[in-house]
Amino acid sequence: MAPISKEIDFLVIGGGSGGLASARAASGKFGTKAMVIEGKRLGGTCVNVGCVPKKVTFNAAFIAETLHQAKAYGFSLHESAPFDWTTFKHKRDAYITRLNGIYERNLVNDKVEYVHGWAKLLSRNQVEVTLDDGTKSVVNAKKILVAFGTNSDGFFDIETLPKKVALVGAGYIAVEFAGMFNALGVETHLFIRHDTFLRHFDPMIQDVVTAEYERLGIKIHKRSQVDRVDKDAATGKLTLHFKEGETSDASVADFDHLIWAVGRTPATKDIGLEAAGVAVDDKGYVLADDYQNTNVDNVYALGDVTGKVELTPVAIAAGRKLAARLFGPEQFKNARLDYSNIPSVVFSHPEVGSIGLTEPEAVEKYGRENLTIYKTNFTAMYYAMMDPEQKGPTSYKLICAGPEEKVVGLHILGLGSGEMLQGFGVAVKMGATKADFDSCVAIHPTSAEELVTLK
Ligand code: NDP
Repeated sequence: MAPISKEIDFLVIGGGSGGLASARAASGKFGTKAMVIEGKRLGGTCVNVGCVPKKVTFNAAFIAETLHQAKAYGFSLHESAPFDWTTFKHKRDAYITRLNGIYERNLVNDKVEYVHGWAKLLSRNQVEVTLDDGTKSVVNAKKILVAFGTNSDGFFDIETLPKKVALVGAGYIAVEFAGMFNALGVETHLFIRHDTFLRHFDPMIQDVVTAEYERLGIKIHKRSQVDRVDKDAATGKLTLHFKEGETSDASVADFDHLIWAVGRTPATKDIGLEAAGVAVDDKGYVLADDYQNTNVDNVYALGDVTGKVELTPVAIAAGRKLAARLFGPEQFKNARLDYSNIPSVVFSHPEVGSIGLTEPEAVEKYGRENLTIYKTNFTAMYYAMMDPEQKGPTSYKLICAGPEEKVVGLHILGLGSGEMLQGFGVAVKMGATKADFDSCVAIHPTSAEELVTLK
């Protein structure tokens, strides 16, 4: 292996989505001498233990659901078609390994120096790199980008289909995993601290999806707080004990796996942030402004490590803008990501899509009297052939502000919501009004048409 460079213009710590995007733009587009240091596999959380393997698993769960529903359309299928989790898991692993290779080749193509090792800041412009064989080197960097990301869980290591799982948490991960496990036939228990989950989302989403999960047979333990977990030495099965008075059950036993999904922790310990004087908040997230500046000149941060909108495309967009601002021509000197109106999807059952303000946020910002809210609940045509118990919900809400009825919040749940949101997101980002929505002719028969015909 060639010795690593000792002088670099742009040193990126963390080879996740944001760090890679920024380094590639800096080098490939603007000719900057850039280096990426990553101790694990390239691609970060999203590629290795996040969005990508999650979506592949979601697709498997979707197929399982479709197999159940096929009978209603006249197909004669075994409802309990066997699912070989282990084969599926190994194929999924192989796909991720292929992606790791593609990411490495992309760095070569964009002439970014890739160092597999661990970085530690020694000062605001010096980084110590420890390679896998223990060799240490010091790199001087004109500019440093901190993009370490956050720590993740071990869901994707599960080798065999569990019988019974426990998930603790109420955010994206808990809700997505609970939906997938349940669809794949696993007895699924979800432990939440309040009466609904996804509590950062619009109340319509919280209420409808929580009720739908209960209807689907997911055992939701509301107002529960885990106190202790015991593992049976002989069987390896887990028992969860709860704080007294918080839940009707004192304990629930026989779990094959327990997944904590209570938010992630930033990977900022022991990486020398103090040596460089970089400020973090009380949870360890690096403080960065909307331009990704930290409190230290020439040290920048983006992505999950900043704790702000922890979404892959946000980190990528912020990384590219930063590279353009730092290394691009004059026209980019104020480039930054606009953090408003960022669409996001929860791959729950059914899917949820959301952009803009929730109803409570809109009331606070504009006042109830200045809002017009349009809502609809209906049964998608896909379910028309099915028995009532097979029919899932569809609910849409548009939150409009002022006399011009500018759309300031759009919340959807139901089949296909994940794919639908992107296009509507463009409209909201452009400042569309209710009249703009209505002026677009409906596409029939779809669920999406309801959003341009709301009364
Ligand atoms: P989130 O921050 O989304 O949710 C964690 C939730 O768990 C909290 O909001 C809280 O909800 C609950 N919680 C916190 N502490 C406890 C506790 N001690 N016991 C029980 N519940 C607790 O975290 P996630 O780990 O789900 O996801 C991390 C981030 O990754 C997300 O914020 C998201 O940005 C990103 N992500 C995005 C996805 C997507 O775009 N589809 C998919 C997966 C992750 P409450 O207050 O209601 O108890």
